[in-house]
Parts: sequence; structure tokens; C-alpha cells
Amino acid sequence: MVLVHVVPSSRRPVSRLETVIEAERYARLRTTADGFRRRFAGRTIWNVNSTAVGGGVAEMLQGLVGYVEDLGIAIRWLVIHGDADFFSITKRLHNAVHGHGDPAGLDAAAAHHYTHVLTANAVELLDHVRPGDIALLHDPQTAGLAAPLAEAGATVVWRCHIGADRQTGVTEAAWEFLRPFLSAAHGWVFSRRAYAPDWLDPGRVWVVPPSIDPFSTKNADLDADTVRTVLATIGVLDVPPAGPPARFGRRDGTVGEVVRPAAVVADGLPGPDDELVVQVSRWDRLKDMTGVMRGFADHVADHRPRYLALVGPAVTNVADDPEGATVYADCLLQWRALPPAARARTLLVTLPLDDTDENATMVNALQRHASVVTQKSLAEGFGLTVAEAMWKGRPVVGSAVGGITDQIAAGTGVLLDDPTDLAAFGATVRHLLDHPEERARLGAAAHDYVRANFVGDLHLLRYAEVFGALAP
Ligand code: UDP
Repeated sequence: MVLVHVVPSSRRPVSRLETVIEAERYARLRTTADGFRRRFAGRTIWNVNSTAVGGGVAEMLQGLVGYVEDLGIAIRWLVIHGDADFFSITKRLHNAVHGHGDPAGLDAAAAHHYTHVLTANAVELLDHVRPGDIALLHDPQTAGLAAPLAEAGATVVWRCHIGADRQTGVTEAAWEFLRPFLSAAHGWVFSRRAYAPDWLDPGRVWVVPPSIDPFSTKNADLDADTVRTVLATIGVLDVPPAGPPARFGRRDGTVGEVVRPAAVVADGLPGPDDELVVQVSRWDRLKDMTGVMRGFADHVADHRPRYLALVGPAVTNVADDPEGATVYADCLLQWRALPPAARARTLLVTLPLDDTDENATMVNALQRHASVVTQKSLAEGFGLTVAEAMWKGRPVVGSAVGGITDQIAAGTGVLLDDPTDLAAFGATVRHLLDHPEERARLGAAAHDYVRANFVGDLHLLRYAEVFGALAP
């Protein structure tokens, strides 16, 4: 059985970054890439994760791998395969690293199964990875690959995209599970210093904030007519499409059109001028979609015609995220139980994932159309959705948890000190809806803040430092 899949290459012209980052930053990227290419000639960087679509890691790899390829550096992306038990263990680890859920099942039997699945994947990975190559392993799903790849002569870096502000009993249980696997890596990368467990050698721990690609289908500019056409086509706006189907560029260079409707659960649809509050997330408890729904219903919905769209992927049981279907079902139940007036202002939107670029155009249009974007997560390593919305000049109301506290600086959005305080959440959203000038001011500052801190060139420069320091 083939377990490991190669994600097809998707070169992205790096020169276009020059139009959004200053010349000095662009020159630094090119000079660093030239030095890297010379030093690492004949060696390949292998990214390994557990899904090519859905979620922040896949989103980021699509952009970064494409730019590195265009810089003439050998880089590939491999996706491992696991069974339902494996992904149930890794989802438990995911929640526990975030300080949530029940780590009780993370026992010797789980470690045995986890090792068994990753050993089988490692056998296939070793057909690709050569001594001297660099293996960049992403998240708990891949930690068990560190030992076999290091033994095969690769420089192994484990990149953790998740984390908790404070280490608690739950996080410690997850780290104890992962510790024997992680010790084989040469270095470890976290999105924030606080996420690293203290038993890792601090000299080999790196902090690398994630990033977005301003030119991806998800983030590229869309004019107002296109936004309206996309939203009318997918069925979240009560207007006829403004023109022919919206077009988007696929990663393989072909052009597609947005034609598929979303599955929209709604008692009423917004008109083009009604204000829309949007949260885009996987159906994951830590994103607290139901909390957003209740906060909106109790504190925002009855003020003028304003709507909430909770948006997530249609595939609610994406292989590596087994809780999605249950979380969505819970949202649906709670939506049915809303008072009719609030229900008529609340939309549950599940976007088709058949074509990832079509899906990205839908997310892009929804984020651009939003008057306010929320990310009321209970835990968040780094919220790509936050950076995406800020890049689009949207005012973001985000929980002051994890990476979001680094992403929203004063005057670039609003942080919620206590994400479980629904009255405060509702009051903040209502205040912004009532003050369009403040929204515009925050949105403009948000865009500049993302440009200065979270565009992919900075991410790549940090990786070059990490690999430069760790590789022989
Ligand atoms: N996303 C998407 N379609 C969806 C829901 C989410 O493309 O229906 C994307 C979203 O735009 C973002 C990523 O998935 O790029 C989620 O990343 P984030 O860091 O916010 O959260 P994660 O899923 O990694 O916990």
C-alpha cells in the first residue's frame, strides 16, 4: 500500500513579492537564497505533514514551497497516511498540546500504534530522503518520523504550529507522549517561545512566526463585483450574480470558475448592504463557533439587519481531523435552538472542498465582504484566518490567546481578554458595526501590520537561519 504521497509542485513567481515588501527586504531574500543554494547544492528540503488540503499548515506550505522552488532551491512536500485510530490519537495530542481535551488515552497502547503507523510511513519516506537532506516535520502527526529520518542521515527539524500559553497537566501529558519521539530531532521550531516544553535544549529551539502569501488565491485582490458574484453563487447573499462566474487561477496554471454552491443552513439571507460578521474556521471545538453563535444571538442580532456567517469546510470528517462532523452537528443543533429572530440572522456555511482554489476564492470573498471578522478561539497556535482578514483590511475581533496576541497589536484590531465572556464579545462586535470609521482605521493599520510582520519572505529567512545553524 502506498502511504506517502508527493504533493504536486506549484511554483510561485517570487518576484511578485517585491511589489508588497520593501526593496531592501526583497534583496535580502534573494541574497539569502543565493547563499543557501550554494551551500546546500545537491540537497533537498522535505516538508512532511498529514494533509495537502484544509487547515493552516497546508495553506502555508502551498505558498512557501512554491516560492522556494522559484528561488531555485530543491524542496518537496510529502503527505503521510494514517488510519482512523492514528488520527484519533493525533487529534487528542493536538487538543492536549493546546491545553484542552482529555489526554487519558495517550498511553502505551497509543504510543505503540502511533509508532507502528509512522514506521510504515518512514519506510516509504526513505525512498525519497537522502543523507544530507533536510526534513521539516510538521506537528504531532509527524514527530515519530524524526528518529528514522535522523538515522538515515537527514537533518531533522520538527515544526510545531500549535501550543498553549501556559504548560498545564494536559499539555505536559501530551509532551510526555511526544518526548521520546522528539528527542531524535536536531532542532525544534515553535510559533512562540512559550510553546516550547522546558526540557528541550534551548540552544536548538527556534521561534518562527507563520505567514501568509498575499498572492495566493485565498488572499489575492478581488473587485467588488467579483466578491458579490462569488457570494451570490455560493448562496450566502440574496442578490443575483453581478456578472459571469468569477474566475480564479489554479495552481497548475489553468483557470477555473466558481460554480459550486455552498451548503448554507439559513432562515434568511443578507442583502448586499446588510452588515455581515464572519468567522472562518475548521469545525473544531477550540475555534468556538457555537460561542460566536450564542454571543451574536444574545448581544448583536437584534440590532438592525446584521448577519453572522460561520464558515467551515464541507468535508467535516477530513481524515486528520476526526472531530469535525461532531462539532458541526453540535453547531446545527444549537442553531435550531436559537430564538427565531436570531436564527434568521445566522448562517452556517460549509464550503465545498472539491477544488481547493475554488474553496480559497470563496473564503477570500467572504473575508473581503465581512464588516467584522471574528476569531474567538479558545486556543490558537497562530490564526492564519486572522492574518488573512487583516491583510484584506478587515477589523478583526480575536481572542487574546496564543499567537493571536502577537498578531493583533494595539490599533490593528481588537483583542478579547476573556474569550468566554460573550457579553464583552457581543459589545465589541456591536461597537465596531456601529462605527464604520473606526473599522476603516483598524483595517488599514491591520493591513500594514501584516505586511510588516507576517508575509512569507520573513518566514523563509527565519527557516534559512534555522537550517544554516543546524545542518552540517
Ligand atoms: N480554511 C479554508 N476553508 C475553510 C475553512 C478554513 O480554506 O472552509 C482555511 C483558512 O482560510 C486558513 C486555514 O484554513 O487558511 C486555517 O488556518 P488557521 O491557522 O486559522 O487554523 P488551523 O485550521 O490551522 O487551526
